[in-house]
Amino acid sequence: MLAAMTITTAYVCPRCGIRSSVSSLTWCCPECRGPWDLDYTAAPVPLGALAGRTGSLWRYEEALPLSGPSCSLGEGRTPLVPLTDTVSAKLDFLMPTLSFKDRGAVMLAELARRLAPRRVIADSSGNAGTAVAAYCARAGLDCTVYVPEGTSPKKLEQIRAHGARLAVVPGDREATARAAREAADEPGTFYASHVFNPYFLHGTKTYVYELWEDLGGRLPDTLVVPAGNGTLLLGADLATAELYAHGLIPARPALVAVQAEAVAPLAEAFRAGADDVPGPAPVAPTLAEGIAIPYPPRARQILRAVRDSGGTFLTVTEDQIRDAQRDLAARGLFVEPTGVACWAALTAAPRQGSAVVPLCGAGAKTGLAPA
Ligand SMILES: [Zn+2]
Repeated sequence: MLAAMTITTAYVCPRCGIRSSVSSLTWCCPECRGPWDLDYTAAPVPLGALAGRTGSLWRYEEALPLSGPSCSLGEGRTPLVPLTDTVSAKLDFLMPTLSFKDRGAVMLAELARRLAPRRVIADSSGNAGTAVAAYCARAGLDCTVYVPEGTSPKKLEQIRAHGARLAVVPGDREATARAAREAADEPGTFYASHVFNPYFLHGTKTYVYELWEDLGGRLPDTLVVPAGNGTLLLGADLATAELYAHGLIPARPALVAVQAEAVAPLAEAFRAGADDVPGPAPVAPTLAEGIAIPYPPRARQILRAVRDSGGTFLTVTEDQIRDAQRDLAARGLFVEPTGVACWAALTAAPRQGSAVVPLCGAGAKTGLAPA
């Protein structure tokens, strides 16, 4: 194991302005207990100089808060495939652990490797935990993943196969998050949280840098993204802000966020004109389990990002999710139910202009939703 390196970038609380050294392993703002942002300014990425660089998301080195990774698994550079004349799909399920979460997990594992904590912990009922387990294995880090009881055996098997310890927590997803956060407060622990740690968002933002490169320095009129904890949405917001600030795109695309009707606290707050989610939303069962988040810690940022972009929220029913999964499979693309929500939303409410939807996770992870 490496000796800990000093990371000079600082965490900053978007609400209180409180700062903390990244090396301190403090996982949330000590004042409001909210998630951190990163005090980091990206440099312009030179479009013309990208050819010949590494074929992974690390090719956008000017815009990344870490460089020279040793735990990369070649993540990123996923294909963009047309679905209709105006809508294309970005196949983010073609990642080392079969979901877009690898974009952020590689950042967290690389950061943890440099900070050399005693152990890494994560909490997830699905793709994020799997991704963190895989990248910790690659980085040689001791990793424990907290999961709620009742998590599917297939997911537990994948996490265990990567050598991570499993802590199965009785109760719901919130009970698991609480258990992980208690453990995260123990000294020497790096909390690889896809929600609280902003390095994750600087990984997911490469989704947009790739689009920008593949479209020859342009972005579509609309980016349709799923919203649970908003990790892809906030990454997309970061990237479009950076590209626009550097004069590399003429205008920022609209961010259209998609939730399942069954668990839609963000969509409801957006429609009510609120700037935050008032409290935990009621939860009904949904096929889109990856975005079924009753009380997202970054709700304020998500709502502001969508409003500022001129975008909106759309919700999809369980039937629409089921139909979209079958529709995509009939087009040759087998995607998990959470990952088809954006295509379902766009099918139900077509938009003017060009749009890209992410297909976030592989259908092999969940199988086909029962009819
Ligand atoms: Zn704060």
